[in-house]
Amino acid sequence: MAESIQDLRAQVDDINLQILELLNKRASLASDIGKIQQQAGSAFYDPQRESQMLTALEQNNKGPFSNETIKALFKEIFRASLALEEKESKAKILVQRKTADERTIITLPDGVTKIGDGSFQIISGPCAVESYEQMDETAAALATRGVKILRGMVFKPRTSPYDYQGMGEPGLKIARQVANKYNMFITSEIMDASQISMMSDYVDIFWVGARNMQNSFLLKAMGQVRQPIILKRGLAATLEEFLYAAEYIVSSGNPNVILIERGIRTFEKATRNTLDIGGVAVMKLESHLPIIVDISHSAGRRDIALPLARVAKASGADGLMVEVHPNPPVAMSDAKQQLYIPQFQSLMDAVEKVSI
Ligand code: PEP
Ligand code: MN
Repeated sequence: MAESIQDLRAQVDDINLQILELLNKRASLASDIGKIQQQAGSAFYDPQRESQMLTALEQNNKGPFSNETIKALFKEIFRASLALEEKESKAKILVQRKTADERTIITLPDGVTKIGDGSFQIISGPCAVESYEQMDETAAALATRGVKILRGMVFKPRTSPYDYQGMGEPGLKIARQVANKYNMFITSEIMDASQISMMSDYVDIFWVGARNMQNSFLLKAMGQVRQPIILKRGLAATLEEFLYAAEYIVSSGNPNVILIERGIRTFEKATRNTLDIGGVAVMKLESHLPIIVDISHSAGRRDIALPLARVAKASGADGLMVEVHPNPPVAMSDAKQQLYIPQFQSLMDAVEKVSI
């Protein structure tokens, strides 16, 4: 007598459970293999091994499923195993967020100014230090709006070697003097590990620029300094590469890293770079490190700074970076994007209206 539909379904249910158990058993084995591969530094995906497994399956396939169907099903299983191995390896990296409420909060030397605590910090100042008067006039205006972190850039990574390269140490002396006068902190870009000891006398936060994001030796050296590090996303760096760059610093001993999205190179020419606001949201999900939006280098123009500043705050970022100069048209670098002081005041008015 033919089996009833209930009996057949009961057998299917039973097989489902067996497949489930086998799938998870297989996943555990794949995960163990992944761990060994990670230790050996080899890639998880091994096309040769995958092809061997598929051939063996085809040879043993007695039907009724066709070889094509079997291959498609098993490829899906391989994909899921690979995704698991990759997820497990990523979960081990220090900068990866482990829980929804995990966050790195960076406290500056006054014990009060914090980045990553839910507040919205403004980092500002001219593109480069040019003179005492220029720094003093800018900082005076910034201080009236409560800005605590002043750009004191003295080494400029210019595209052309004939362009302004920055004042060097004399510029840091100026930046420090002005910052002290207005009770502010200095951040300044470092180009090479050999500058650490000189710069440490002046700066509160080291800054690694976009062009150095993948300079692993400099990143490791930044792991050894006591100051927090601002790390910019590279000109054409993926978010994963950005995360691993931060990992270099954190795994070398410095947990205080602040990420900056500064726009990436795309085909679009209307802006200097394309501000990747989606990338900011992804980094907030993926990492516990604070992230700041650079609305100056991403746009390359001051006339759209205000909407970008609003977007930056609304995006959930931990702050924004904007260049301000007392007389932008005569600035030695980035003349088109630095804000006039009154423009900065309007920008702050607009930002303060955006609630987070
Ligand atoms: C800067 O912010 O000073 C700078 C040089 O920008 P980036 O490294 O993003 O080009
Ligand atoms: Mn600049």
